[in-house]
Amino acid sequence: MQSRGRLYIIGIGPGDVELLTIKAINALKESEYVLGHKTYLSMIRNLIEGKKVIESSMGREIERVKIAVELSKNSVVSLVSGGDPSIYGMLPLFLEFLIKNDLDVNYEVIPGVTALCAASPLLGSPVCGDHVVISLSDLLTPWEKIEKRLLHALKGDFVIAIYNPSSRRRKKNLIKAMKTVLEERGNVVVGIVKNAFREKCEVSVKKVLEIIEDPEIVDMNTILFIANSETLIKGNTLLTPRGYSNKYDL
Ligand code: SAH
Repeated sequence: MQSRGRLYIIGIGPGDVELLTIKAINALKESEYVLGHKTYLSMIRNLIEGKKVIESSMGREIERVKIAVELSKNSVVSLVSGGDPSIYGMLPLFLEFLIKNDLDVNYEVIPGVTALCAASPLLGSPVCGDHVVISLSDLLTPWEKIEKRLLHALKGDFVIAIYNPSSRRRKKNLIKAMKTVLEERGNVVVGIVKNAFREKCEVSVKKVLEIIEDPEIVDMNTILFIANSETLIKGNTLLTPRGYSNKYDL
């Protein structure tokens, strides 16, 4: 029997409703149910008035996916994820659940502006070309693997964007990572964007040692950009040039 329902997995961007795509807004409008983490649902409160809203907290992601899949058999459902759903978001979990259980779900993914894309231009252009993205959360990835990847990214002279740099329970990883940066790349500059496109947005540029001395400047709503050997700094603006002035007269 053809299912009557549909599941949208929606990226809602960094927090500002103006950064949702039109596709995301239309999918929310069409949905009878909206599920998500309470922080993200509060960001789109005005768009989901009158919907059947199921909010849950961090750590309840598996349960959320199961409920969304079940409801989507007969109803139009939106499962919302911050930023982009495929980047440390709900999509990989949903697909893992789908594949593991060999399920046939009528679903559509709607991309969102990921934290990197929201935050990088607030600093200038720290990420202009090849770069590496690393999460410091060792909830699902062993620390040894994270550290190894960080080390190789540093050796490759990539600009490195760091997601999940710190949390209330997980502060040590930030210090360990910054010490690795210091050893491998020196006391380079780090672009810091807290709450991009949210209230209390803060943009700053610090040195690695300053972060080691005062790790509290980084929290779970922060993304970091570690400069490479080519990154230039002017005030709070970071630029990793693409190399136009090596080739052309600017
Ligand atoms: N799927 C999300 C990422 C979820 S992981 C996305 O695509 O953006 C959560 C991490 O993303 C946070 O710890 C932080 O490092 C980063 N992040 C998400 N939103 C942010 C924002 N508005 N400002 C700064 N960092 C943000």
